[in-house]
Amino acid sequence: MIHGPGLLFVISGPSGAGKDTLVEAVRGRVPRLMYSVSATTRTARAGEREGEHYFFLSREAFERRIAEDGFLEWREYGGHLYGTPRDAVDRVLQRGDDLIAKPEVHGALAIKHAYPEATLIFLLPDKFSTLRERLLERRTESNEAIVARLVIAHEEMRSIREFDYLVINEQRQLERAVDDLQSILQAERFRIHRYSDDIIRKVEHS
Ligand code: 5GP
Repeated sequence: MIHGPGLLFVISGPSGAGKDTLVEAVRGRVPRLMYSVSATTRTARAGEREGEHYFFLSREAFERRIAEDGFLEWREYGGHLYGTPRDAVDRVLQRGDDLIAKPEVHGALAIKHAYPEATLIFLLPDKFSTLRERLLERRTESNEAIVARLVIAHEEMRSIREFDYLVINEQRQLERAVDDLQSILQAERFRIHRYSDDIIRKVEHS
C-alpha cells in the first residue's frame, strides 16, 4: 500500500551515547534497513573494515570528494573529517529501501536541511557521566581526545529540540532502546503524508 522512495532515518547524539551498538542491533531486526557508510580521514580502529564501518580516505581524497560535491554533508570532528556520501543515499532511497545514518549532530541537521523528509532521532545515555565511562571503557581514544569529545557532547545537547525523537539508552537496557528505536521506524511508515495521494484519494471517496 505504501509507495515511493525509502525512508531516511538519522540517529545522532554525543559520542559514547551508543549509536553504533544500537544501529547494529536494530539492523539485525529490521529487514531492508540499509546503513549509510560514511567516509572519514581518521585511521581504522581494530576490527573496523573498509566499506563496512567507514570508507577510510586520505585528507586529499576527502577534499577531492568535497570539491566534486560528493557529500550530502561533511564535518570536521576531533581533528578528522567525516562525511555522508551523497550517491549511496540517493540510490538506496530511490530503489525504495530505508536507510539509517549516524552522523554527529551538525551532520544530522544538515541532512534534515537537504532531506526535510528525514526522521531525526537523538540518542542519549541516562546520565552524562555514562558518556565518559563508555569512552574510557572503549579505549579507542587518548585522554585528550575523550575530553574533546565530552566538550563537543555538551554543545551537541543544545540541538535536541531540532530533532523529531529522543531515545534514552539506559545502561544495561540496550534491548529497551532497540525496542524504542524500532517502534519509531515502524510508526514513521504509517504517517499520512507517507501514503501516495492516489491512495488517500481512493480512501476518501470509498
Ligand atoms: P567515531 O570516530 O567515533 O567513529 O565518530 C566520531 C563522530 O563522528 C561520531 O559522533 C559520529 O557520529 C560522527 N560521524 C560519523 N560519520 C559521520 C558523517 O558521515 N558525518 C558526520 N557529520 N559525522 C559523522
